[in-house]
Amino acid sequence: MARPRVFAARASEAAKCLDKLFKSDALMGDEMGIMRSVLLACSQSRWLREQAPRQVFMRRAVTRFMPGESAEDALAAAEELRKKSIGSILTHLGENVSDPAEAERVTRHYLEVLDRIGVMNLNTELSVKLTQLGLDLDHELCYSNLERIIQHADEKGVVWIDMEASNYVDVTLEIYRRARRSYPNVGVCLQAYLYRTARDLESLISMGPAIRLVKGAYREPPDRAFRRKRDVDENYFSLCKTLLSPGARAAGARAAFATHDRRLIRRIMEFVDSNHIGKNDLEFQMLYGIQRAEQARLAREGWRERVLISYGSYWFPWFMRRLAERPANVFFLLRNLF
Ligand SMILES: Cc1cc2nc3c(=O)[nH]c(=O)nc-3n(C[C@H](O)[C@H](O)[C@H](O)COP(=O)(O)OP(=O)(O)OC[C@H]3O[C@@H](n4cnc5c(N)ncnc54)[C@H](O)[C@@H]3O)c2cc1C
Repeated sequence: MARPRVFAARASEAAKCLDKLFKSDALMGDEMGIMRSVLLACSQSRWLREQAPRQVFMRRAVTRFMPGESAEDALAAAEELRKKSIGSILTHLGENVSDPAEAERVTRHYLEVLDRIGVMNLNTELSVKLTQLGLDLDHELCYSNLERIIQHADEKGVVWIDMEASNYVDVTLEIYRRARRSYPNVGVCLQAYLYRTARDLESLISMGPAIRLVKGAYREPPDRAFRRKRDVDENYFSLCKTLLSPGARAAGARAAFATHDRRLIRRIMEFVDSNHIGKNDLEFQMLYGIQRAEQARLAREGWRERVLISYGSYWFPWFMRRLAERPANVFFLLRNLF
């Protein structure tokens, strides 16, 4: 057998072992935490961001998580999902824009994509990062860009605001509250790994918010975020219960549980069942290319389901965060090298 093939086979085996270890929860605090930190540090490296996308093996590996770099690729993937009764959310990759002209270009791009969604009659929403709309430059500029997108979007859907690193949480929630006071079709992401999120969620409930609950994808210090997977999972489930409480539903909250964690999904389903909550009172969201079988199963069983499709050429930091979520992916990346 040729050397590269031997390496590929070993990398694949190593990936499986690592995955088992990761799922066992034993390592989250130490070894896995280190691996995760390294990958998240890579996501912030400018040099790597410029060099890595030129490598063919990186470009090949990233196709697992995105259908292509263009809006056409993403819309075609949304069309395919629609055939399986799965809704979609599009996001154009990019963050921390430092030029107002770039924020304007991104905003116009989203307005055009909304037009295309309308023409194709897709069940597709958008998800935006505030730092891509100019948050680092000027809050007013960012709000006005966001507002243009919300006004252009279908009132029956939601324009989702991603949650970025913890230093952006206050300003993101401030902008969300402001937008929600004027528009019904805007939602925000909350991260279960942050200690503060329970308080944030409580403070939003009376607005009848649309909340996408995630575990959280950034590198956070221990005084802000739970470190152990078990604690993050427990907090996630506790936040689910708040979001599905009679008070939250009476206020008109829309609950979107964005996770690939099958154990957690099962717990949510059991909770929904035992509390006589309708399947239409919540939805599950996943990322394109991850847990495809589970995505199809949820849709078949009549749960509301959306898949977030990312596209664009600025995929390096986002791809590193996907690797950090499951470090075993690194071995699949290395396999692509050969
Ligand atoms: C729709 C959507 C929107 C999101 N928006 C945000 C956001 O705005 N801000 C933010 O901080 N985070 C966001 N995230 C990412 C999120 O915070 C988590 O990092 C990510 O979802 C992984 O956590 P998990 O809940 O799937 O659970 P985990 O416990 O991490 O994973 C459970 C299982 O899912 C599978 N899995 C998870 N991730 C991967 C992967 N990358 N590759 C292969 N398999 C994987 C593995 O089998 C793993 O064992 C979003 C996620 C989704 C699905």
